[in-house]
Amino acid sequence: MTAIRLYNTRTRSKEAFEPFDARNVRMYVCGPTVYDRAHLGNARPVVVFDTLFRLLRHVYGEGHVTYVRNFTDVDDKINATALSRQEAGAPGTLEELIHQRTEETIGWYHADMDALGALRPTKEPRATEYIGAMIAMIEGLIESGHAYEVSGHVLFDVRSYPEYGRLSGRSVDDMIAGARVEVAPYKRDPMDFVLWKPSDASLPGWESPWGRGRPGWHIECSAMSYELLGASFDIHGGGIDLQFPHHENEVAQSCCAHPGSDFARVWMHNEMLLVEGKKMSKSLGNFFTVRELLEQGYPGEVIRFVMLSTHYRKPMDWTAEKAREAEAVLRHWRALAADAEPTGPDAELVEALADDLNGAGAMARLHVLAKAIAANPQKDCFYEKGVFLASARLLGLLEAGMGDWAEGVDLSALAAKLADLRNAAMVSKDFAPVDALKSALIAAGVEVRMSKAGVELVPGAGFDPAKLEGL
Ligand SMILES: [Zn+2]
Repeated sequence: MTAIRLYNTRTRSKEAFEPFDARNVRMYVCGPTVYDRAHLGNARPVVVFDTLFRLLRHVYGEGHVTYVRNFTDVDDKINATALSRQEAGAPGTLEELIHQRTEETIGWYHADMDALGALRPTKEPRATEYIGAMIAMIEGLIESGHAYEVSGHVLFDVRSYPEYGRLSGRSVDDMIAGARVEVAPYKRDPMDFVLWKPSDASLPGWESPWGRGRPGWHIECSAMSYELLGASFDIHGGGIDLQFPHHENEVAQSCCAHPGSDFARVWMHNEMLLVEGKKMSKSLGNFFTVRELLEQGYPGEVIRFVMLSTHYRKPMDWTAEKAREAEAVLRHWRALAADAEPTGPDAELVEALADDLNGAGAMARLHVLAKAIAANPQKDCFYEKGVFLASARLLGLLEAGMGDWAEGVDLSALAAKLADLRNAAMVSKDFAPVDALKSALIAAGVEVRMSKAGVELVPGAGFDPAKLEGL
C-alpha cells in the first residue's frame, strides 16, 4: 500500500499517515457560510482537500473514505441579507427569506465547485440540522466546568483548558496581547468565546436551557464532526485563516467534551491565495468570485490546473498569464489523450501526491509523461496514454465531463488541406503553398506531423485557435 506522509500543523512535522481504521478513513473540512457566492480564495481549500480525498480513495478504496464538509447556514450575515430583502419588500417571513437565501447559496456553491471538478463530499451536514447535538455538547461543557452561562450567553472558559493555544502555537496571554478581542462585560476572560447567544424576535432562534437563542460558529464543527465521524478521527482540514481562533476553539470544545479522545489526529492547513501577487481585496479591485471567473471564460479545469500547480502550504498566486498557459497545456493534453482509455496512474505521480500532497510535483510529472508521448508521434503509445489519462484524472483533470470548453476546434479539415497541398506539390514541385500553411499552423501553436502515412495536427503548448482564422 502507498505510504502517505502528511504535514501535521499540530506537531509541526511531516508524519507517516496511519488511519484509525483503514476501512473507514475519516476527514472533516470546514465548509462555507452560505450567504453569498464563493470567491476564488474559498475555492482553494476545496481543490486541495478534494485532491487529498481522491488520493485517499485511490489508496484505501473508494468506499473506505468518509469526507464531511459542513454548510454554516446559521450566521448573522445570512440574517442581515434576508432582513435587507424583507425591508426591500420581498414577500415571506424572515425565516422563509433566510431559508431561500441559504438554499440559493448552496445551489450556487455546488454548481461552482462542480465546475472546478471537485467531487461532492460523502456528507454535507447543515448546521441547522444539528442544533440539538450542539445544545447537548454545550450542556456537557457546563457540567464539566469548561463553560458558563451569563445572561442568556454561554461562554467557553479558555483558562479551564491548559492546552488552549497549542494548535496555533501561542499562549492565551500572547493572544490577548495580539488579537482584537471583543470586550464584553459578561466574559470572565477576554479570550472566552461564545457557544450560545440569545436571539430576539427578529432573529432565528431555537429553544434551549438558556432561553431562545442560536449557536456560536465554532461549536457547529465540533458537534457535526462528533455526530458524523466520532470523538476521534483522522484528518481535519481548512484554510490557514481558520487556524486561529476557529480551529483552536474547535479543539478546546471537542477535547473537553470528550476527554481522552484525540479529536483530529492530523491538522492540515492550506495557505492563502493571492491575485497578481497581491492579497485579494475589494478595495484593490482584484476580488472576484468563482462564478465571475467562469463567466469571463476561464474554464473550471483551468482554474483547478493553476491551483494544483502550487504546493498547498505555499501562497498561491492567481495570474492571467498562468491561466493562459494552463489553457494551452490542457488543450494539448486533451488532444494527446483523446483516444486513450484510462488504466492505472503513474507510480511516481502517486508518490509525489503521497508526499504531503505535493500537487506541484504531481503536475510536473504529468508534464514529463505528456512530453514522452508527444515525442513519439509514430508510436502507438496506447499504454502510455492510458497511464497519462489515469494520472491526470487522479488529480481531477481531463475528466470526460469537463472538456466541453476545449472542443469546437476541429483540425481535421486543415490536416486534409495540408495533405492535398502536399500531393499537388509532389506533381508541381512547388512546395511554397505547403510551407506557407505549415508555417501559419506552427505560428498558431499547432504541432505539424507529416509522414508517409499522412498529416497529423495536434494543438501544442502555445495553441491559439484565433490564429487559425482564414487558413
Ligand atoms: Zn470548522
